[in-house]
Amino acid sequence: MHMTRYIFIAGGVMSGVGKGVATASIGKILLSKGFTVSAVKIDPYINVDAGTMNPLEHGEVFVTDDGTESDQDLGNYERFLGRSFSKVNYMTTGNVYDTVIKRERNLEYKGKCVEVVPHIPLEVISRIKDAGKQDKADFVLIEIGGTVGEYQNMLFLEAARMMQASSPEQVFFVMVSYLPIPSSIGEQKTKPTQTAVRTLNEAGVRPDMIIARSELPVDRPRKEKISLSCNIPIDHVISAPDVDFIYEIPVNFDKEDVGGKILRKFGLKDTKKDMKEWKAMVQKVRSLTKTVKIGIVGKYFEIGDFTLMDSYLSVIEAIKHAAWAENYKPEITWLSAQQYEKNSKALQGLKQFDGIIVPGGFGSRGSEGKINAIGYCRKQNIPFFGLCLGLQLAVIEFARNVAGIIKANSREFTEKGDLVIDVLPEQKILLKEKKYGGTMRLGAYACSLQKGSRAYQAYKKSDIQERHRHRYEINNVYKERLEEKGMVFSGINKERGLVEIGELPNHPFFMGTQFHPELKSRPLLPHPLFVAFMKAATK
Ligand code: GLN
Repeated sequence: MHMTRYIFIAGGVMSGVGKGVATASIGKILLSKGFTVSAVKIDPYINVDAGTMNPLEHGEVFVTDDGTESDQDLGNYERFLGRSFSKVNYMTTGNVYDTVIKRERNLEYKGKCVEVVPHIPLEVISRIKDAGKQDKADFVLIEIGGTVGEYQNMLFLEAARMMQASSPEQVFFVMVSYLPIPSSIGEQKTKPTQTAVRTLNEAGVRPDMIIARSELPVDRPRKEKISLSCNIPIDHVISAPDVDFIYEIPVNFDKEDVGGKILRKFGLKDTKKDMKEWKAMVQKVRSLTKTVKIGIVGKYFEIGDFTLMDSYLSVIEAIKHAAWAENYKPEITWLSAQQYEKNSKALQGLKQFDGIIVPGGFGSRGSEGKINAIGYCRKQNIPFFGLCLGLQLAVIEFARNVAGIIKANSREFTEKGDLVIDVLPEQKILLKEKKYGGTMRLGAYACSLQKGSRAYQAYKKSDIQERHRHRYEINNVYKERLEEKGMVFSGINKERGLVEIGELPNHPFFMGTQFHPELKSRPLLPHPLFVAFMKAATK
């Protein structure tokens, strides 16, 4: 009979040390050894999904084909594993409680007291098992968000403990830890890891492997220390030093035989297969010398004194994949939109870029700056690619400055003027009632491409599916007037008559998409539109 094995991954010491990528990398290794792999991300937030979280706090909202608004780690899983995930692969504290409470209201617990323990962990376990069943997976990787010792993820650790206790032969537990090197000491310290494992032990969980993240490789004496104090065989303490780029991590894990070690623990034979294509990609990227300069005009960059790039993670990755495919190293620069509001000198600075991207976004802050930047790209023949909001703003710019609709605007920013970007009638009602959660066009929708258009040339077919996440749409009332002036709406959702792509044929590259193509780009399968943009940028 087919048996699914469960690999839990939790973080010790601190967050942000690459648990998601570690999870994806373990998955990649097992996949390339010929096993089927699924993954589940657990976010310990009350938010029912990631849709209502600010990207500056939580990072990008990654949307799956079925419209689940999930965590950016699902994007990592998709890129590393080269497949799509869905609702069963993501849960939050909020939606687990939501299910349990609804079930209680339906009398499904038959009069029993419904308790945090065991009912919440039982629901978590049943979801983890569903993910395995759906894919008939040999392995399900379960990444528990947050850090060991936090109040928030205790119930998820409890679920792991219950599974480990009831079927130890099916469960493997990995702790991703961090070994700091304080500059005043200059030595790698293992104590925080020891403490984190002790905390994990208090929760009744025994780790099978420690991935020791650090600036530098972890040497033998430190591995010994961790092994001795944490009850882990020394060869299960994995050295995971910082790398130049994340796609190298599976290759590094493979050098430490992470896959073989996991298989042996489960009594499975190592197939000795390895990731040829992936390794070749990593090799190639390392050897690239020519650079292409891409500017991203956006606003979700700064938090305090720090610049965070996570809000646009998939966009950055998609740029990289396409640049690598064209044998270039991308040099990405963050351009804060507000500087283009009144400053024509700043606009001229755009000339130094080979291409400009205006990614998705919400709200009016920075929008006029983005519109000016887009106008500059249009007039100066700088390759431009607009993603979602980027398309909407490109249409506003074109309407105002080419089609003479000078009061062109979006309902997202104002109620007045010519709303070339508007909401669908059914959404208007929900917005009035302030029902923001889940009022967007989400997930994959069909799009038909116009033969001969640039979009069609890129995809080389006419029927595509791409993922959406937005409330507003191009207002069809203005479509003809824009077309008369030369904008080509080359992608249409026929079912609902909605514009999906706008492009200008008499420009080196000027395109905007209502969908988010970046969500489907993968290192071994770059997105056709990003590749087309990159071809223009490197010309
Ligand atoms: N704010 C815009 C909308 O809701 C664009 C959203 C986006 O860029 N993802 O339609």
